[in-house]
Amino acid sequence: MTIIRGATTIDKDCKEEISASVKALLDEIFAINALKKEEINGFLFSLTTDIHSYHPAKAARECGYDFAPLFAAIEPEIDGSLKLCIRLMLFTELIQNRQVKHVYQKGAKALRKDISEIYNIALDGPAGSGKSTVAKALARDYNILYLDTGAMYRACGLKALRLGVDPKDGVAVEKMLPNLDVKVEYRDGTQHTILDGEDVSTAIRENAVSMAASTISAHPCVRMKMVEMQREIAKSMSCVLDGRDIGSTVLPDAKYKFFITADSKVRATRRYKELVERGERVDFDALHAEIVARDKQDSERAFSPLVQAKDAVLIDTSDMDVEGVLAAIKRVIQSKI
Ligand code: C5P
Repeated sequence: MTIIRGATTIDKDCKEEISASVKALLDEIFAINALKKEEINGFLFSLTTDIHSYHPAKAARECGYDFAPLFAAIEPEIDGSLKLCIRLMLFTELIQNRQVKHVYQKGAKALRKDISEIYNIALDGPAGSGKSTVAKALARDYNILYLDTGAMYRACGLKALRLGVDPKDGVAVEKMLPNLDVKVEYRDGTQHTILDGEDVSTAIRENAVSMAASTISAHPCVRMKMVEMQREIAKSMSCVLDGRDIGSTVLPDAKYKFFITADSKVRATRRYKELVERGERVDFDALHAEIVARDKQDSERAFSPLVQAKDAVLIDTSDMDVEGVLAAIKRVIQSKI
């Protein structure tokens, strides 16, 4: 069983307003979630105590939502709560793992500003700073998409390695670009990176690909292609993006921006554990040196380098656990909503 939430407000307590608002709310919930009648188990409305003129269940039935049990109840009267508000909990048997979209209309948007408008969270920082772990957790908690932009550059690096193209060689890389087909797809809410039709989500994580990705991502022609895709995705839905230049270049207007960093030894230790867990054999000192080299290369490239955007909040995760970082980020977000 899955629950979809919705809420709306009316301007005046009268039958016409209630009927129109209930219909608009249900229509949007059904459209945006591509719901079918047979997936619905029931509708539960609640009303603030200032609504008396019409029963929302009746309004729902009259506009065709009569295929599952309908119920409505009065909410407790709480000081300072939203006026003339109708809320809904819709119980459904959704097709497995389809991402649920809650709907907050009109004045009720004040209840959930976070989901009623498209917004982006930019998380930039060097390798191993913990961005991706935090980005995944934020996406899960806010029920938005997570776009790992590093995966896209890794796919470019992997293509060059496979073709024997030197990622440093700008001319050869530019020649490769028309035939470079990188896409991101989401299955069960998880990003899959597709290179020329093949799911390379695992292959791009190999350590050999990291440096190739860093080198190839310095070419403006590569970045322009990837950035365009990233912007398209970010403008179509709320998402958290992690990378190197999201706050500075890709989405300079992102509502929330963070720069996540940590001491290079701490970052190398995290990455070491990750690789060892995956069964890769790595030498810690070599890995540390490589991380430092990658930071240098990412920060010193001429075009769109790794940089903290002026308006990004800096978080040093060296002595913090994931929960601590998550809590710090959420505090900032809450204060800006
Ligand atoms: O984040 P990740 O380590 O997967 O990124 C791999 C490489 O891709 C980075 O070292 C960086 O050079 C490049 N990158 C980038 N811009 C981004 C994300 C990643 O240049 N937005």
